[in-house]
Amino acid sequence: MALHLYNTMSSRIEEFRPLRDNEVRMYACGPTVYDYGHIGNFRTFVAVDLFRRFLRQSGYQVRHVMNITDVDDRIIRNAARDGVTVQQYTAKYEKVFLEDAALIGIEQPTLVRATEHIPEMADFVARLVEKGVAYRTEDGSYYFRIAEFPAYGKLSKKDFSGMLDGARVDVDNYDKDSARDFALWKSPKPGETWWDTAIGPGRPGWHLECSVMSMEELGESFDLHAGGEDLIFPHHENEIAQSESLTGKPFAHFWFHARFLLVEGEKMSKSLGNFFTLRDLVLKGHKPSSIRYLLTSVPYRNQLNFTFDGLKQAAVSVERLRNFRLRLSASNFTAGASAQMQSLASETIEKMRAALDDDLNTALAQAAIFEMVRQTNAAFDTGGVKKDDVGPLLAALAKFDEVFAVLDDNDVLKMKQVLDWAGAEGREKDVSRELREAVESGLSDADIEKKIAGMRAARGARDFQASDRLRAELIAAGITVEITKDGIRWRRK
Ligand code: AMP
Ligand code: ZN
Repeated sequence: MALHLYNTMSSRIEEFRPLRDNEVRMYACGPTVYDYGHIGNFRTFVAVDLFRRFLRQSGYQVRHVMNITDVDDRIIRNAARDGVTVQQYTAKYEKVFLEDAALIGIEQPTLVRATEHIPEMADFVARLVEKGVAYRTEDGSYYFRIAEFPAYGKLSKKDFSGMLDGARVDVDNYDKDSARDFALWKSPKPGETWWDTAIGPGRPGWHLECSVMSMEELGESFDLHAGGEDLIFPHHENEIAQSESLTGKPFAHFWFHARFLLVEGEKMSKSLGNFFTLRDLVLKGHKPSSIRYLLTSVPYRNQLNFTFDGLKQAAVSVERLRNFRLRLSASNFTAGASAQMQSLASETIEKMRAALDDDLNTALAQAAIFEMVRQTNAAFDTGGVKKDDVGPLLAALAKFDEVFAVLDDNDVLKMKQVLDWAGAEGREKDVSRELREAVESGLSDADIEKKIAGMRAARGARDFQASDRLRAELIAAGITVEITKDGIRWRRK
């Protein structure tokens, strides 16, 4: 089966094919850098990261662009509160976002910043005015006239035919019942940051930003546009109206929306105050790999209810997979191959692919790898796994990890970074005993010996990649490893 994805535009699952050959051009709405992101935000970012990784595994070249919203109402308000410039303020939170994204194993997309595209945005507004779909108000702001775009509502499936022509809204986010002409460009208010441009002084609205930068990077029509489900209206609806009015062409072909992460049945959000940041969870002693695994354990189109029990379960799952990989790399097997193990490995790869091809059913893909672990562990005990089975079984694990990215053990290193950050920010009181112990003890001697045995076995089998991987894990945990002609030695730094 080829890749099938749900398209919010058609409300159906469709076969996903890029517009141009083998290249997928996708744009994901990124963070507004006004504060630490919460794990709800990261559910969406991780879902897009997993999709990108799966596209690559499926043989596509991926151009993945993400914006950084570095000017908006909240940023301006918070920068003024802290007595710093907007640039100083956003630089801090952009860095925080990128560190968090790395913490949770997100591969970095091409980043585009709103404040670096102001002249292009002004030009876009001027062209909309020329087309007669945008207008200037007395104070020098510009609005998009939604009555000029008859397809308005096609993404959110809302009938706006009875709406009030000319009623306006200048906040960036508003609900469906108040569909209005929306602000493209906001004239300066006292104390606000503004730019002097060809259409006058002011700053761009949020929706305009994404239309301009996505088309600049990816062309007028591109393959896929992604974000969390709250972006369907008004953000993406407005992006479509602006972009298609200007070009007369379909904007994005697929619309990909991740459903919310909930806490006790409610959307996790800053405004409700029911949120955890990634660092909050690491401060409590949870591993980044457990958080990533948990966020991918429910398919992106189902809501995910966050619980600490779920997080503990995720940690157990990752540990089982890591131990299994180590056991495969480090054990001695009798020569030969078992037809049963060989077909188990290849069937697992097929099952994982079929699950992900089916609108990214991550839960089924995880179930497939665990079934392989279960059957192989049972065969271990009866001598049913042979030397030549190890390669194919490891290959299935590697396929899994190309997409899920949780097997390499670099948690201690990442947890240490969070511990250091807590020290630098004066947040020692939030550091749990569990985090301190995890960082201080790092790996136990027995853990280290297991990895060293794995290295010896891998080198014996001339699998230098596997050996290097284990060595990197040891180094990440602060262990010095020396490979000498007499064998492998280790010591704690
Ligand atoms: P923001 O920084 O507020 O613009 O949000 C960044 C991304 O996180 C957007 O794609 C949102 O749709 C998404 N998002 C916000 N809250 C949640 C949540 N509780 N669950 C999943 N995604 C969310
Ligand atoms: Zn956007």
